[in-house]
Amino acid sequence: MKSLRGCLQDFINFIFPPSCPLCNARVETHGELCADCWTSFNWIDGAKCIHCGFPFASSFDMSPNMMCPTCAAGKCELDLIRSACVYDDASRAAMLPYKHAGHVQYARFMSRAMIWALRDTDIAPDIIMPVPLAPRRLFQRGYNQATLLARPIARAFGVKMDLDSVSRKYRENMGHKTSAQRAQNIHNVFTVRHPDKIQGKKILLVDDVMTTGATFNELHRVLVAAGAAAVYGVTFCRVAHTV
Ligand SMILES: [Zn+2]
Ligand SMILES: [Zn+2]
Repeated sequence: MKSLRGCLQDFINFIFPPSCPLCNARVETHGELCADCWTSFNWIDGAKCIHCGFPFASSFDMSPNMMCPTCAAGKCELDLIRSACVYDDASRAAMLPYKHAGHVQYARFMSRAMIWALRDTDIAPDIIMPVPLAPRRLFQRGYNQATLLARPIARAFGVKMDLDSVSRKYRENMGHKTSAQRAQNIHNVFTVRHPDKIQGKKILLVDDVMTTGATFNELHRVLVAAGAAAVYGVTFCRVAHTV
């Protein structure tokens, strides 16, 4: 016999049939993508950098411990990074309305994909921290897109989100600046307000997109200065020019 919860779900599905959040096609479960939309994304499920998850273009046999040139040169500060997919036309088409037009319902499939992206790691974070927004930006947008992604990830790890230990100053949008300009623009933008909550903790940073890694590197710098034991990062998509 079906549980009360199962019956209630059937009733909800009858009234509001589950549909793909991107194209409205019928799907089995609320929040999941239809097969066509799913396959339009360039998921990072092949060979990748063991450290930062950078996808390698070719499928030829590579060592499972292969590193990308950035990590091999020691320029990736975080202890580990993973992203669910590559930033391209498909992910951009989902990301823009998610971030700028209130399509917050996308957070469900995005966060699910991010949990999937972490499956080959053995990280055990104590804290899940969405990359903070400046209060002015939060006021303009009405929500922090990273917080919506972080919530289900925190639930999956069974740990708390930290929303107030780090604050962010407002700076003009970085647009299409170079890697050096982005690093300069983000420098000293974060302040650790509660070092006692950071001290000795393993922290998983959550963001929607990773461009040059400058934001993660800067957060890593202030968190380690405040005594963090480890800093990891996960994003839905990442800019990945092929190596
Ligand atoms: Zn669809
Ligand atoms: Zn790497």
